[in-house]
Amino acid sequence: MDGARRVIENGGVAIKSGRIIAIGGTNEIDRTYAAREVVNASGKVVIPGLINGHTHVPMTLFRGLADDLDLQEWLTKYIFPAEARNVTEDFVRVGTRLGLAEMIRSGTTTYCDMYYFEDAIADETFKAGMRGVLGETVIDFPVADNKTNAEAMAYVEKFVSQWKGNSLIVPAIAPHAPYTVSEEHLKAIRAFSDRTGAPIVTHISETKREVDDSLKAKGATPIDYLNRIGFLNNRVIAAHVVWPSEEELNLLKRLGVGVVHNPQSNMKLASGVAPVPEMLKRDLQVGLGTDGAASNNDLNLWEEMDTAAKLHKVISKDPKVISAEEAFEMATIRGARALHLEHEIGSIEKGKRADLVVVDLDDLNQTPYYNIYSDLVYATKAADVRTVIIEGRVVLRDHRLLTLNEETIKADARRYRERIIRSLGAKTLPED
Ligand SMILES: [Zn+2]
Repeated sequence: MDGARRVIENGGVAIKSGRIIAIGGTNEIDRTYAAREVVNASGKVVIPGLINGHTHVPMTLFRGLADDLDLQEWLTKYIFPAEARNVTEDFVRVGTRLGLAEMIRSGTTTYCDMYYFEDAIADETFKAGMRGVLGETVIDFPVADNKTNAEAMAYVEKFVSQWKGNSLIVPAIAPHAPYTVSEEHLKAIRAFSDRTGAPIVTHISETKREVDDSLKAKGATPIDYLNRIGFLNNRVIAAHVVWPSEEELNLLKRLGVGVVHNPQSNMKLASGVAPVPEMLKRDLQVGLGTDGAASNNDLNLWEEMDTAAKLHKVISKDPKVISAEEAFEMATIRGARALHLEHEIGSIEKGKRADLVVVDLDDLNQTPYYNIYSDLVYATKAADVRTVIIEGRVVLRDHRLLTLNEETIKADARRYRERIIRSLGAKTLPED
């Protein structure tokens, strides 16, 4: 995923102090460097770590709680009440560990998050050795960690100053959406970001209803409105952008706004199909995300690549839109651009952070092998991820998690399942 899109046969990568210091042929790297640790990847492919551009990681604990509903009904009848009754710092930690384990195991090395108690999420993420752009949610109603906007802004102030400069964590501020945060608060958030350099993570233009409501209430579409109040710039990471006009796409490009496409979540909630081929034509910085596990229902970037490539073919009736290589770019280098981290991650290049994934190439579903991008995007499964290195540290070795305890994580999550069902008023647990 370097500028020339080189694919090196029999290649080697040298890593020092968390960064890539050389790339070349295996022999050349072997001759030049004496390594303390060698990861043998012969017969396999080494790819840049995958980047999940949009999640709500603790929502893994709501996986499968309510399905087959549209966004408004799903949010207001199920997710918001379930969150109001269950989200605590402990809930967030348990759900985060589950999500981190799932993401690392499937080759994701960076994720962008928006939730509550984001400081605890940062703590768990750092401990697991994972990279994250982590945004504390700001929303205009009382939530689990903060009851007022003043409390939320004070939380974010402390959170950002505490984590700024960390090698793995980029602390961010996350206004939920233009329809759940007032103009005054959005302006204050932009001022906070200007002052601290913290990225802004948000949802924009997710559904047609959001656009219609915005036109009625504000006389402008969500993107038009956000632009008018001076909110958009090159620190904004916008999830979804399903309903932009052509001019709005030009505007997002001009302002350098990062966009994250969540094909499976948009399909499951029937939110619509984002005009991703139009975005790519304009060279927008567009990445891929899973969204929270409650609307997907997993955190598997391989499926998002495969779905992104196929969804846009069927919608446009053109099999040439979004090639396998373009889908892979969105999960790596273009995803890095969407998070405004392209100088640090997204490709295997000298000087970048050493976030690498070793993928098997000899499973039945990958045999025979002709083309690397076709194999990775259309045939490879998450289970083919063998070894994961983040910031030069091995966190998954031969399919085994080294920084997280899988059995404890599953037991903790199952314990929460029972609490969540009771909290929603069910007298008996299904399938018990
Ligand atoms: Zn979301």
